[in-house]
Amino acid sequence: MKKLLDGGNDAGRLNLVCLSEGYLESERPLFEAHAKQLAAAIKSEPWYRLGLLNLHAFFVRSNQSARALKPKGGPLDTAFRAEYGQGTRAPHVISGNDAAAKDSVRDAQNRASSPPGHILVLVNCTLYGGKGGGEGGGICWTYTDRYNPARWTDCALHEWGHVLGLADEYGGRGNANRSREPREPNITLDLRGGKWRHLVEGAVEGAAGFDYGIYRPTKDCRMRSFAGGFCAVCVDHIRRELEGYLSEPEPEPQPAQLVIQTVRPDGARFTDGVFPDDSAGCMEAVAFLLKRQFG
Ligand SMILES: [Zn+2]
Repeated sequence: MKKLLDGGNDAGRLNLVCLSEGYLESERPLFEAHAKQLAAAIKSEPWYRLGLLNLHAFFVRSNQSARALKPKGGPLDTAFRAEYGQGTRAPHVISGNDAAAKDSVRDAQNRASSPPGHILVLVNCTLYGGKGGGEGGGICWTYTDRYNPARWTDCALHEWGHVLGLADEYGGRGNANRSREPREPNITLDLRGGKWRHLVEGAVEGAAGFDYGIYRPTKDCRMRSFAGGFCAVCVDHIRRELEGYLSEPEPEPQPAQLVIQTVRPDGARFTDGVFPDDSAGCMEAVAFLLKRQFG
């Protein structure tokens, strides 16, 4: 298992494991390239900061490449039997054997005495598809596409969003007809959006697969489409979820050293940011410098 984002001790934070599915031994470099693309995408997320999580890559060889997977074509001889449309009529759902994938990661982690975390299965097929938030939780699946990292990592982060407890924000079918407030933080029955009013004003109708009777925080979000990133409510939730795993202090960021040097008209120098208790003198020096520079 390779650590791609090292936030610190595995025991003190969430460990997200990218697991390979449908890669031949000769495709190991391709898997590593995909995992690096994911790491780069995570690092550019607004909720990310160093120390918040660890990202690992774990390669398991398959006998056949998932490059040959076809919608409704059934699984191939791959490590975790990924296929399109498994157990659903939705062709863009891609998933496989959750239990086998979890066992494989658990075995590797036990050898390294790492705590369990989340698994993101990178399937070596380029046709769009993914799945997250299935039974048992903790695992999600995504297609990959080396030549379009922005798009496939959007799909990967959307599916992982489900593992972290987020609902879909897209519509599709008629009225939700729900009477109980959903537990997910990014959907509500309250058309004023009371539960996220500290982050976003109001609510937009249509979410959780329904067009009416259920609301999302904003017009767009990665839990709805891939036009942009996560909305403010989802960003806030992801950050708090990950913080919930932190059980040791994060490394203190070193404050940037501010070195100020200025010269007073009388030639006196103040360096290392230590100004004498003489603010009139400092202002005088600043005015002098500005005047010299800009006339
Ligand atoms: Zn959202």
